[in-house]
Amino acid sequence: MPHLYDMTLTEMQQWMADQGEPKYRAKQIFQWLYQRRAVSVEDMTNLSKALRQRLGQEATLGTSREVTRQVSKVDGTVKFLLGWPDGVTVETVLMRHEYGNSVCISTQVGCKMGCTFCASTLGGMIRQMTAGEMVEQLLYSQRLLDESHERVSSIVLMGSGEPMNNFDAAMKFIDIVNDPNGLNIGQRHITISTVGLVPGIIRLADEGRPITLAVSLHAATDELRSSMMPVNKAYPIAKLMEACHYYHNKTGKRISFEYALIGGKNDSLDDARRLARLLKGLPSHVNLIPVNYVPERNYHRTPKDQIQAFVNELRSLGVNATVRREMGHDISAACGQLRAEHAGKL
Ligand code: SAH
Repeated sequence: MPHLYDMTLTEMQQWMADQGEPKYRAKQIFQWLYQRRAVSVEDMTNLSKALRQRLGQEATLGTSREVTRQVSKVDGTVKFLLGWPDGVTVETVLMRHEYGNSVCISTQVGCKMGCTFCASTLGGMIRQMTAGEMVEQLLYSQRLLDESHERVSSIVLMGSGEPMNNFDAAMKFIDIVNDPNGLNIGQRHITISTVGLVPGIIRLADEGRPITLAVSLHAATDELRSSMMPVNKAYPIAKLMEACHYYHNKTGKRISFEYALIGGKNDSLDDARRLARLLKGLPSHVNLIPVNYVPERNYHRTPKDQIQAFVNELRSLGVNATVRREMGHDISAACGQLRAEHAGKL
């Protein structure tokens, strides 16, 4: 059965044409889904009753349900745990910033990348999210924002999963939410975060989209990075940096680097200097993230003054760096935590 949220406008036009319907029907349905936020085909009152009936039988809107929701009292961050009929659950997070509302989308159920500090990978990769399921995630936040007449202004593919391992679905998701007949979220307001899969970075560069690339770096030497991120054995730092330069040259965009500070592991001033050396000549921005505590991992946080010293060192060496403001620290907003808490309870 076709999932309406899983179709680009072009696909929907083809689908309507196949059924002998005029092309403009697709645009009407698209507008109902994304501009008027219809919850069923019954709502789509400018379609004929017969077509509505047929659509109701032959197609489905979302199939997910909200399992639970946590709202931060500190900063209004909302974390949704969503469940699908096959029993899988994923998290999506709405973050309220001064500059707008951003939503974090999960691209896979679980993850197979095996980063030692990450909760999403603990149970391995269960399955891919389809583009439509990513769209569904986004709509939970948008519907909540509708209550206060606000909109989602930016998207980060930074939830559970590795987007470069689900490349086509991620691109299709972007096409759907970017469509001017739909949610109309500009690609400049979309960020894809990758563990550092070089072929995916190259492919994304060649797509020529003005998307922001975020690379999870976390260490500036191969020895340290390989001990934290198995992917580094396949794509070591030199290859990764080469791909980042390629991305910048192709798109003209500055690259974001994520660096989770882990006490005693990657947070010394020498580490900062090595990081600065690595990024020399590449227009970039470093997001420092105080590591989120994951019960299964025995990592410690870097003390505040040491974080400051780390940032200062980077800045003095000409690196653009900021410490990521922690969102929803009072709820389990770190990746995979809510899902992990609920595992076994469903
Ligand atoms: N697979 C992609 C996107 C999902 S992870 C990637 O690796 O980039 C999103 C970000 O959260 C990544 O930068 C990841 O390294 C980081 N992350 C995972 N676990 C974390 C933790 N415990 N503390 C801080 N950051 C973490």
